[in-house]
Amino acid sequence: MNKDFDVLKYIKDFPVLNKEVNGKRLVYLDSAATAQKPLSVINAIKNYYENINANPHRGAYFLSTASTEAHDNARKTIKEFLNAKYSEEIIFTKGATESFNIIAQSYGMNFINANDEIVISISEHHSNLIPWQQVAKAKGAVLKYLYLDENGEIPISEIEEKITSKTKLVSITQMSNALGTILPVKEIIKRAHEVGAVACVDAAQSIAHMAVDVQDLDADFLVFSGHKIMSPMGIGVLYGKKHLLNKMTPFLFGGDMVEYVYEQDTTYAELPYKFEGGTQNVEAAIGLQEAIKYINHVGIDNIENHVQQLLEYAHEKLSQLEVVTIYGPKELHKKGGVISFNIKDVHPHDVSTILDSYGVAIRSGNHCAQPLMRYMNINSTCRASFYLYNTKEDVDIFIDSIKNVRRWLGYGS
Ligand code: PLP
Repeated sequence: MNKDFDVLKYIKDFPVLNKEVNGKRLVYLDSAATAQKPLSVINAIKNYYENINANPHRGAYFLSTASTEAHDNARKTIKEFLNAKYSEEIIFTKGATESFNIIAQSYGMNFINANDEIVISISEHHSNLIPWQQVAKAKGAVLKYLYLDENGEIPISEIEEKITSKTKLVSITQMSNALGTILPVKEIIKRAHEVGAVACVDAAQSIAHMAVDVQDLDADFLVFSGHKIMSPMGIGVLYGKKHLLNKMTPFLFGGDMVEYVYEQDTTYAELPYKFEGGTQNVEAAIGLQEAIKYINHVGIDNIENHVQQLLEYAHEKLSQLEVVTIYGPKELHKKGGVISFNIKDVHPHDVSTILDSYGVAIRSGNHCAQPLMRYMNINSTCRASFYLYNTKEDVDIFIDSIKNVRRWLGYGS
């Protein structure tokens, strides 16, 4: 393992990993669903409520100003984290799902027309799929898919054939939550721009594992959820290029997103407030800011290396088990810290329940990617995912418990 990365030092920062859960040591292998939270994030939320809680933007008094400043400061931290050009390009949302719905409703419904094409990949999470189905249905547009080859990758030919002058929007995940595949988003964005299409990136998984730079990617929109990078739930980000956000209509109408309201008409606030109707989740924005500070403190490259090493270690051990089928790319540098697999003749929910009795938490199901499962001719998989606080010992416990699954169910081995 990476000698410079002292994982035990970081584990101490996560209260839930330092006690028994349901009478057992927790081996948490479900960070792709949501990451555990370090004490600094938990304390930041406590501090907010103990010292600065007030409705932001709405008062001239000290606390309200402090709350407004804290919210705006959090936005600046996210701007730096994504290397966005302007703070106004960072919109706070409830999460990736809401961010996609904003793009679909406020951009898609206004700028996509009949017979235009929208291109996504077959490995998209439902949140980057259903909103585009809605736009396609409402506008008479065509929703096209980039399919994976037998190696679990999108061939270049697929990108060139599907993204054409008819394409008006491409929306692609940077890392599949279901298979761990890292997609060539930079190349896909380049192709989208060559044909004059707008490109959105789903960074809900990748944001936890690699440096994400919106200017380097040249992404027009990029979304993520804070909870996957250790912030509280209920906060996420929509990044959008300023000129695109400026021409879009608001998504949520109400308090705070307005300039002037008349009996019959309204003018809207400037960016980013135009897209932030209603009282904002200031505690979660501060929690997200603190989570980013924590990532910066550990170092995103260290996290990426550590997770990659755990992935390789787990992959090697799991591949030695004849009864296990692993899905996704064979070349591990094309994969993030996710292993999707099945055990012969055992339903993933049974695997997950049996592993739980060993204190091992993994995910089972279709991972909000039903079209992908159907394309692969399976119903569901087991998914183990790794993060900065996981150890080789976690992987060993996971593998030992996997070895017991079929025995539990009465199979010989
Ligand atoms: N996109 C991907 C790749 C995800 O993994 C997820 C959540 O699992 C989402 C989008 C949606 O995130 P949320 O449920 O936080 O809105």
